[in-house]
Amino acid sequence: MEQLRIPGPTPCPENVLQSMTKQMINHRGDEFQQILSGVTAKLKQLFQTKNDLFILTGSGTGGLEAAAVNMLSPGDKVLSVSIGVFGERFASIAKQYGADVIPLRFEWGKAADADAVRKALQDTPEIKAVLVTHNETSTGVTNDLASLSSVVKEFDKLLLVDAVSSLGSLNLPVDDWQCDVVVTGSQKGWMVPPGLAMVAVSPKAWEAYEKAKMPRFYWDFGKARSYFEKRQTPWTPAVSIVFALSVSLDMMLEEGLPGVIARHARVGKAAREKAKSLGLSLFADEKYASNTVTAVAASNGLDIGRLRKIMLEEHQVVLAGGQQHLDGKIFRIGHLGWVTEDDIETVTSALKISLPKAGFKS
Ligand code: PLP
Repeated sequence: MEQLRIPGPTPCPENVLQSMTKQMINHRGDEFQQILSGVTAKLKQLFQTKNDLFILTGSGTGGLEAAAVNMLSPGDKVLSVSIGVFGERFASIAKQYGADVIPLRFEWGKAADADAVRKALQDTPEIKAVLVTHNETSTGVTNDLASLSSVVKEFDKLLLVDAVSSLGSLNLPVDDWQCDVVVTGSQKGWMVPPGLAMVAVSPKAWEAYEKAKMPRFYWDFGKARSYFEKRQTPWTPAVSIVFALSVSLDMMLEEGLPGVIARHARVGKAAREKAKSLGLSLFADEKYASNTVTAVAASNGLDIGRLRKIMLEEHQVVLAGGQQHLDGKIFRIGHLGWVTEDDIETVTSALKISLPKAGFKS
């Protein structure tokens, strides 16, 4: 079987896949209402939140767009804290809808610096919201969201968080860290296929919602809230993926959130240690290295394209390449969701054989 070791979509356990073969049901009937209600309650436990939580049909990017259009008005000043591709994407969405985006960029491979965020907020007091990526999938870096949040809250700004590749895998206590809108995507640590974005919305975010003037229809949180009072979604949801999520969330709760987080920490550490033991160089600043995705830099003659091809064709291991200017410069090993140290062992054994064939001289 193929080892899908990209940072999403991630492999799904067999019982999760089976749950999606169930016949369709009425998405406005009692059975679905119960499922939606249960799934939402389980997600709240894993988000560590008492805030409103909505399941939107769309990918993670849709969730980010929802965060922007429900919180902001054209012309609003927004601080974009960006450490990679997905930080840039969040900023582009806000910009596209007319926000006045103030970029605060950090070198790719490094984490955001809380003092620089403080300075930016001091310099421009009119900033309304701060956009932050918790886990930057393109570089394998996890921001210190607790520190960034405490700075944002010193200034009482809205904190909008892209947690697409962190929630459900890394610790992110949404309420303790005062995140106003947090977005994740089903195909990441949640062990289900792509198709759902899950968002949590704080009371402060609802105040912003009342004043926000960006155009919105499909993503309107107000519609999601009023339909959820009837345990429904405004639009036809991806019913099968909700079935799947119900099963995967039970698995996660059975393991327990601390267990899930600890497993990702062990697996992340194993990925980094094994990569280094093969003589490879890590791309990300190790202090902030992600426990859901490891980025490895090309070094010692390594041809990344060739390596990925060999890994796929000879070992059925699927690795991710680098995005944008990191194309050809890094490869990434995804290790989130349904993953154990054994999977890292499989990748390591295959790498050991493939690296010399791909030009790597240790
Ligand atoms: N944000 C981050 C951190 C991601 O890793 C991804 C997907 O890889 C996205 C946003 C976009 O999510 P999607 O591809 O589901 O739209």
